[in-house]
Amino acid sequence: MQAARCPVHPDETLLPATARATDRFWGFGGEFTYGRCPTCGTWVLDPRPAPTEMGPWYAGYYPEGEAAFRRKAWSRYGPRRALGIDGMRALDTKVRLARLGQRWTPETRALDAGCGAGGFLAGLRHETGAQVQGVDFNPECRAFAAEVYQVAVDSGELAAQAYPDAAFDVVTTWHCLEHTYDPAAELAELKRITRPGGFLVVEVPTPSPLAWLFRGRWFFLQAPTHLYHLRPKALRALLERAGWRVRQVRRPWLPSELAGSLLMLFGVRRFVPTVMYGKGAAAHLLKALFGLLLLVDVPLTFLLALAGATGGLRAVAQRPEDA
Ligand SMILES: [Zn+2]
Repeated sequence: MQAARCPVHPDETLLPATARATDRFWGFGGEFTYGRCPTCGTWVLDPRPAPTEMGPWYAGYYPEGEAAFRRKAWSRYGPRRALGIDGMRALDTKVRLARLGQRWTPETRALDAGCGAGGFLAGLRHETGAQVQGVDFNPECRAFAAEVYQVAVDSGELAAQAYPDAAFDVVTTWHCLEHTYDPAAELAELKRITRPGGFLVVEVPTPSPLAWLFRGRWFFLQAPTHLYHLRPKALRALLERAGWRVRQVRRPWLPSELAGSLLMLFGVRRFVPTVMYGKGAAAHLLKALFGLLLLVDVPLTFLLALAGATGGLRAVAQRPEDA
């Protein structure tokens, strides 16, 4: 374990014990504490496992059954319906960046850092016709994305790829920055590989009213893989320090925050393998319960989005033409 600080205000002493959590989401165990930056309010996992100690919590990222589930949905329902939230993000990215001046053509080059299974890139290709490319530190992603979506994915950390300067017109990173030990360096590297005038879309979880209500059982907490939960002004500061021009910061609709938090409250463990892709009667019951909870979650999180109070934070930034 190692001590941690606010990534924006490393000189500040953290306010202790904003949330105490056992690892419920991944189910590999461990007790964790998040402190809070007194200046920007960001929640910081402190102490945190060193990068070399993080293996067990990432081992279950792609459970058995996920590839088959995604392939079946992709072939049966067509891109928009099959991709769910990935598809919504792709459509939003297309429309929002077009309004800010992005011209989507078959020559447009897009990179998704921390692309996982590649669902967002499949959606973006479908919506815009852009050339899409992913990178993910998890070596399973390459085969997974190629098999399910025919999306090319490089394996390893972003910086290790040594992409050329200005190689991409659009770069995106969805719920990835909070996993990185040096988010400032990540944002600087993304800027280097984006052409001047090109765009970045970044989304991270952020402390919300539901986060304060559920604390250690908040669905998006996901200790210890989430090292920070940045507040809006902290994300803005990180982007500006890395040389990005911030165009928009908002709290998008992010369903499942309430339903997932309630499952954590009820003591459910290992959400992805048990509730999403589990087999057998118990898994089917949990899935049905999650579906029922979503009937309340969807309208409530939609209202939270209207009020600017969801647990998600999405920023659009642009690389200045002259920097
Ligand atoms: Zn701070």
